[in-house]
Amino acid sequence: MRPIQMVDTKNQYLKIKNEVDKAVIDVMESTAFINGRPVHEFAANLSAYVGAKHTIPCANGTDALQIAMMALGLQPGDEVITPSFTYIATTEVIALLRLTPVFAEVDAQTFCITAETIEKVITPKTKAIVPVHLYGHAAPMEEIMDLAAKYNLYVIEDNAQAIGCDYTFSDGTKKKTGTIGHIGTTSFYPSKNLGGFGDGGAIFTNDDGLAAMLKMIANHGQNRQYYHDVVGCNSRLDTMQAAILNIKLSHLDEYLDARRNAADFYDKAFTKHPKITIPYRADYSRHVFHQYTIVLNDVDRDGLKQYLADNKIPSMIYYPVPGHKQKMFEQFNVASKPMPVTDWLTERVISLPVHTELDSEQLEFITSKVLEFINR
Ligand SMILES: *Cc1c(COP(=O)(O)O)cnc(C)c1O
Repeated sequence: MRPIQMVDTKNQYLKIKNEVDKAVIDVMESTAFINGRPVHEFAANLSAYVGAKHTIPCANGTDALQIAMMALGLQPGDEVITPSFTYIATTEVIALLRLTPVFAEVDAQTFCITAETIEKVITPKTKAIVPVHLYGHAAPMEEIMDLAAKYNLYVIEDNAQAIGCDYTFSDGTKKKTGTIGHIGTTSFYPSKNLGGFGDGGAIFTNDDGLAAMLKMIANHGQNRQYYHDVVGCNSRLDTMQAAILNIKLSHLDEYLDARRNAADFYDKAFTKHPKITIPYRADYSRHVFHQYTIVLNDVDRDGLKQYLADNKIPSMIYYPVPGHKQKMFEQFNVASKPMPVTDWLTERVISLPVHTELDSEQLEFITSKVLEFINR
């Protein structure tokens, strides 16, 4: 059996090596390392893929969130509602911009914030909502957008884990996550579903005014060279990454199918087990399984993790410490507010290897070892 990895970017690369190597050499020969033609081609192809009017490439998914929040003209002290149960990047940039993070509880099945949990923490100072499509399952965007309209709030979707996820509205129309809110952001960190060979990110919007502002902010606040109208930053996707991502984008749907196949395999093995809750798949969301995360019921999680490690099976806890318990946020007085679902999940989730290169022998081995530990 081939060694099992949490993500297998090496074997994924080997399958498209010729294409990728040629694209990289072309960039080297062009020496257009910054803002070269592949950057524009990739942005156009990605816009077409997700169905966004505008795609603004940038340096990483954290910058994408920061630039999105800067573009909305929020003022220090404005409140931004977001999950505590997410990667730190989502919540960190709120604090970085001197905005106030306000954590909403997640749903125990989808791991995402909902209109109901968001509404509970809305105050007169609330200006924006940042739902996260955690692990590749969409947050309930239709109800979140309705709520945002009711309270006149902006919505920025953190789509770093869900690129390619189809969202179905109650009238049957479909959109990709990241294109439903006023702004969507994503990351091309190597382990993401569309991963580069280094850092990268992008911002989506259908609003022409916001697009112009996002572009300007990502480029030192200028749209004419050396004339800086607003305070911005320097956040670029380099040409080499764009050239590689352009090739990987053409394989993205296959990659998502491979992830879903692995998830289906796990589901079959674990379904109905009283001590394992398999990932929920809401009707409105076509899961893209950035992570395959199960919830353990009455299982020694550390023991399971160790047992898997002893069998050379990696596993991860995403995330061991939720935002409201991070020292970083003590200044915001969030620790005092109870987050029972988030805390409950934090103690019980475990993510198993899921990527595009898993074969049935590996999957069989992983599921058998998980069950062996849990059933003993
Ligand atoms: C990966 C990730 C980010 C940040 O992306 P980077 O490219 O690493 O900066 C933001 N939010 C979520 C939910 C992520 O998973």
